[in-house]
Amino acid sequence: MKLEELTTKCNPTWCAGCGNFGIWGAFKNAAVEKDWNSTNSVVVAGIGCHGNIINFIRLTSFEGLHGRAIPVATGIKLANNKLNVFVFTGDGDCLGEGGNHLLHASRRNHDLTVIVHNNNFYSLTTGQTSPSAPHGFKTKSTPFGNPDFPISPLTIAIAAGATFVARGYAGDMQNLKDLIIKANEHKGFSLIDVIQPCITFNKVITNQFLRENIYELKDHDVANREEAFKRSLEWGQKQIPVGIFYQAEKESYESSLPQLKDKSLIEHDNTRKNLDDLFRKFI
Ligand code: SF4
Repeated sequence: MKLEELTTKCNPTWCAGCGNFGIWGAFKNAAVEKDWNSTNSVVVAGIGCHGNIINFIRLTSFEGLHGRAIPVATGIKLANNKLNVFVFTGDGDCLGEGGNHLLHASRRNHDLTVIVHNNNFYSLTTGQTSPSAPHGFKTKSTPFGNPDFPISPLTIAIAAGATFVARGYAGDMQNLKDLIIKANEHKGFSLIDVIQPCITFNKVITNQFLRENIYELKDHDVANREEAFKRSLEWGQKQIPVGIFYQAEKESYESSLPQLKDKSLIEHDNTRKNLDDLFRKFI
């Protein structure tokens, strides 16, 4: 796989300087390094500025309804568990409309790699408060300050049972590429929260703010769930950790299914059979 082979005829329509470019670049570099191509990989996106990414990567792809990228990806993985399945989702898409899907995919430990483009805004609709926006944040939808308190995809994923939970920064493509590869190599539900400033609407959590306050998780025991949970709550001056928060070995949903033990679902005999006898059992 060469970088040119991932290129499509569409040029990105994101604002110049948007963090989506960093996530796009990191993913494509990871794909080249690991030879992710349309025979072994699928990308799924939700709705939001992030969702455009599938138009700029030449891989088999699907854009789901708002908040429904994770269940679409789950279906793809169950149909062919040999595929690498990647989900691009935004903070609104993943924590708002799709919040319930994040919970249940985490607890079932579906073998997916979920990349959250987290910029604290509904940016496609021109800058309303999302579920990850800080308390007091002034936006179009909260001109007097956000009365809600934010939730973090990291905290939720750890609490719900995800087995690989990490945070990256869109302005650091090298480390983000490495995190994406590690998340994909992990067997089970992997989530990377990517801090991705929306340079057009977010004048508070800017690249400058992040560069001054991000620190790398070092000497951190990734097997310690309680510590990972505590670290996931950190946010503030010199207090924004990036790296792997939590990792655990646990049977994935797909590997627990006897039907998928020897072959994927699409390799089973799927010729149409008369189901009358089966239906009668339920009458
Ligand atoms: Fe990026 Fe924000 Fe522009 Fe959307 S509105 S493309 S998130 S900078």
